[in-house]
Amino acid sequence: MDRVTLLLPLLLVVLFFAPPLLEADEAEPPAKAEPKAKADAKGCGCGSTLEAAFRKIEKTPLSAEVTKQLLHMRQEEKLARDVYRTLGKRWKLRPFTNIQGAEQRHIEHVQMLMKHYGIEDPVTDDTVGVFPDPAMRALYTRLTAQGLKSEVEALRAGMTIEDLDIADLRALLAMKGANAHVRLVAHNLLKGSRNHMRAFARNLAARKATYKPQRLTQKAIDAIVAADHERGVVYDQDGKPLKAAASTCGCGGKGQGKGQGKCKGKGQGKCKGKGHGKGKGRGKGKRHRHGKGQDED
Ligand code: MN
Ligand code: MN
Repeated sequence: MDRVTLLLPLLLVVLFFAPPLLEADEAEPPAKAEPKAKADAKGCGCGSTLEAAFRKIEKTPLSAEVTKQLLHMRQEEKLARDVYRTLGKRWKLRPFTNIQGAEQRHIEHVQMLMKHYGIEDPVTDDTVGVFPDPAMRALYTRLTAQGLKSEVEALRAGMTIEDLDIADLRALLAMKGANAHVRLVAHNLLKGSRNHMRAFARNLAARKATYKPQRLTQKAIDAIVAADHERGVVYDQDGKPLKAAASTCGCGGKGQGKGQGKCKGKGQGKCKGKGHGKGKGRGKGKRHRHGKGQDED
């Protein structure tokens, strides 16, 4: 009995220090301030809010139209990642370096959806600039050529990608056959795209440069850009904010609060022992991204 009592906390320590596999996919925006990020670091090691919400939804058939659009979205998220990678190498602009990670997670969210519905991934070669769809390849060529000309053109190329992405995600949401799984993912990809568009628009404005809309209307773009950066929020299938990771994953919020309190109150030695022993110390998926900067997600 004694041995079990002793081993249990140890087991928890091991479990909570296991590398975060799923959390890293959650496209979380940055913390407002470093202290919050530190508190998150003491959060809990459970799956991301989006994935938890995804698991709760029942499977219903996808229409052919939706399936086709998902294959398109899969490549469009890769287009975003690839263009930002290429332009990020040329121009050391924060949006490009920060956003590529978010685009990789967007790819993974679409993949999660495709896998769940047995849809084969059309992308078999992950190489930058390689796409099965020739139109996507052409877009990559055009947008990178444009973006390599100057910083302003690079930012405009970024705007174009988010413009197309938002238009395509809205089209997906408007489809009758878009079930709850699809809508859940789409709403959260949209959030990321709106944040990215804000980052590019802000950088363009700082250079007194403008952007000519491609698919969205000027009015739609203005409305997105005028709104606040959407921080720390995950949406449900109806586009309504879900509660913080705490409630959906069961332990994240608790971990944050308690861990921090004990740290401050009782000093470092105790904090380490208690926090980790109880498995309340991590929330790491977010933690890493918080460190990267403010245009993520
Ligand atoms: Mn994206
Ligand atoms: Mn984006």
